[in-house]
Amino acid sequence: MTALGSETAPSRLAAPGVQTAADPDPIPEVQQPVRQPCSFDETAAYDHAAALAGLGTRVAGTTAEHRAFDYITTQLRCFGYSVTMQSFVLPNGRTSHNVIAEKTGAEPRFIVLGAHVDTKYPSPGANDNGSGVGTVLELARALSMTETIPSLRFVFFGAEEMIDSNPAHHHYGSTHYVATLSEAQKAAISGMVSVDMVGYGTDYHARTMLLGPQSMSTLAMTAAAREGIEITFLKDTGVYGWSDHEPFERSGIPAVWLEWREDPLYHTRGDKAVHLNKGSIKTTGDHLAGLIVGMTPAEMP
Ligand SMILES: [Zn+2]
Repeated sequence: MTALGSETAPSRLAAPGVQTAADPDPIPEVQQPVRQPCSFDETAAYDHAAALAGLGTRVAGTTAEHRAFDYITTQLRCFGYSVTMQSFVLPNGRTSHNVIAEKTGAEPRFIVLGAHVDTKYPSPGANDNGSGVGTVLELARALSMTETIPSLRFVFFGAEEMIDSNPAHHHYGSTHYVATLSEAQKAAISGMVSVDMVGYGTDYHARTMLLGPQSMSTLAMTAAAREGIEITFLKDTGVYGWSDHEPFERSGIPAVWLEWREDPLYHTRGDKAVHLNKGSIKTTGDHLAGLIVGMTPAEMP
C-alpha cells in the first residue's frame, strides 16, 4: 500500500525541462500508521462488544437480544453482506433468532464462524459473549476484502445459555441451525468454530467434547503453531458441550470452541466492556484470520 504524501507521487512530478515554482502549499507527510483494511482490528471488535454490553442483559427471546440482532444485521450490511435470519420458538414461548451472512471462496465447501448473542441474567455479557460476536463481526469485515480458499458462513446464534435450571436446556440457536441442514449441506461444512469468551483470561484453549471428527480442532492447533500462538487443548467435562460446537459435534461435523479463561466475572453484572482485554481478542482474531487465509484445499477438513 502506498502512503499519501509520497515524494514520488506521479501527479507531483514536473514534466522534463519545465521550470516549476516552489510548491506554495506542500502536502504534509503522513505520520500516522496506515490502517490495514484487510487485517483484524481488535479495537473494532472491542467496540462491538462494548455496544452489545451497552444494550444490557440479552436473555434469549427478550427485546434486548432482538436489539443485538438488529445491531449485528446493520453491521453486516455495512460490510456489504446480504443477511438472512432464522427464527425459532423456545420452550418458554419466546422467539429467538440466528443471523447469517455468507462469503464465497474459491471452494464451495465452507467454514462456519459462530458466536452466541444472548447472555445469562443478570450479565451484560461483554466477554460472554460480546467478545465472540465482536471478533466474528470484525473477521466478517476484514475477510470481506480478502480472497479465501474456503467459503465462509458467519452465524450469530441466539439462545446459547441455559434458559432455566435444566442443564440440557441450552444451545437452541445452534441446535436449530444444524437441524435445518440437509445431509448434503452438512457434508459441505468443512468445519465449525465457536468463538465464545475470548475477551478475558491468561490461557487460550481449543475445546471439543471429543465426540465428532477432530479435524477442525487439529487445524486450529496447527494454525496457532504457524502463527506463534500458544494454545492448549481442553476436553469439555460432563455430558454436555459447553458452547455452540455441541450440536455440530453431535451431528458429525468437525467443530471446535475457542476460549480464553478464567473469567471470574462470567455470568455476573460485572461482565462489562471495561473488563475486556483487547490483547486476547487480537490474538483470537489474528489466529482465525491466519487459519482462514492460510487454508489450502488439501488442508480443508
Ligand atoms: Zn458463552
